[in-house]
Amino acid sequence: AYQDLAFVTLATTDSYCMGATVVARSLRRHGTTRHIVAMITPNVSEQSRLALNDVFDEVIVVDVMDSEDYHHLCLLGRPELGITFTKIHCWTLTQYSKCVFLDADTLVLCNVDELFDRDELSAAPDPGWPDCFNSGVFVFRPSLHTHTSLLHHASRHGSVHDNTRLHGLRINWEILCVGFVSVLLVLQPQLDMLELQVCSCRFGHGAKIIHFLGADKPWSSQGNSSYSHNMEQFVSLWWKEYLIHTVSSAPAVQPKQEQKKPQ
Ligand code: UDP
Ligand code: MN
Repeated sequence: AYQDLAFVTLATTDSYCMGATVVARSLRRHGTTRHIVAMITPNVSEQSRLALNDVFDEVIVVDVMDSEDYHHLCLLGRPELGITFTKIHCWTLTQYSKCVFLDADTLVLCNVDELFDRDELSAAPDPGWPDCFNSGVFVFRPSLHTHTSLLHHASRHGSVHDNTRLHGLRINWEILCVGFVSVLLVLQPQLDMLELQVCSCRFGHGAKIIHFLGADKPWSSQGNSSYSHNMEQFVSLWWKEYLIHTVSSAPAVQPKQEQKKPQ
C-alpha cells in the first residue's frame, strides 16, 4: 500500500555515502514501511554503490548539478555546496507520488512515517535564516513540471529556499512543528552561531531527526573537536549506526574519530 511513498537521500561522494548508509539504517531501525531511495552521481565508487545496494530499496544515478553560485556560497564559507543543487533531481522520481527528502547528514531517532501525512512542501525553518526553510528534511511531490520550474528558477536566482520564491512556483511552504528536526550546528566563528547551538540543544530533547548541519560532519575526522557535549551523544549514536554492520567490509573513509576514543 505504501509502495508509492519513499524516503530519498543524495550522495555525490564516497564520504556522503557513509552518511546515506546511516540515513537508511536509522529509518529501518525504526520500522519504516516506506521505500528508501538513494540518488548518487556517476563518480561514486563501485564499492560505495554496492554498499548502498544493501541498505536501499533503490539506488538511482543522476547527473551532477551545480548552482554555479560560487560567490554566495563562499560568503557562507561553504563553496562545496554548489553540488547540493543536485538534490533538485528528486522531483524526477515520479514513480512515487510523495516523498520525504533527507540530507545524507541526518540521523533518524524514531519512526517518522507520519511525515507522509504532510503535503508539499513541508520543511523546518532554517535556524540561521528563519524565513527560509532548511532543505535538510522536506516533504515533496515528484513532478517533472516542478522539476523543470525549479531548475529554471535555481539557474536564475541561485536558491529556492524561501516562501516568496516558492510562491512563484505555486508551491506553499508549510512549517513542520518546531523541534521535529533538530539542527545541530557546530560553532562557526564567522557566523556567530553560538546562541543557535544552545537553542537547538534545548529542542534536541523532543527531536525526531538530527541534522548535522555545517561544515563538520560526524564522519569527518576534524568534526570531533568542535562538537559540544550535548551533540557528542548524537555523533556517537551516528557512529554506532554506521559501524554496526560495516565492520567486516572496509569503510569508504577510515573512521578516525572512533579510533581516537578509548575503548
Ligand atoms: N551532498 C553531497 N555531496 C556533497 C555535498 C552535499 O552528496 O559534496 C548532499 C548530501 O545529501 C548532503 C546535502 O547534499 O546532506 C546537503 O549538503 P550538506 O548536508 O553538506 O549541507 P548543510 O546541511 O551542512 O548545509
Ligand atoms: Mn545537511
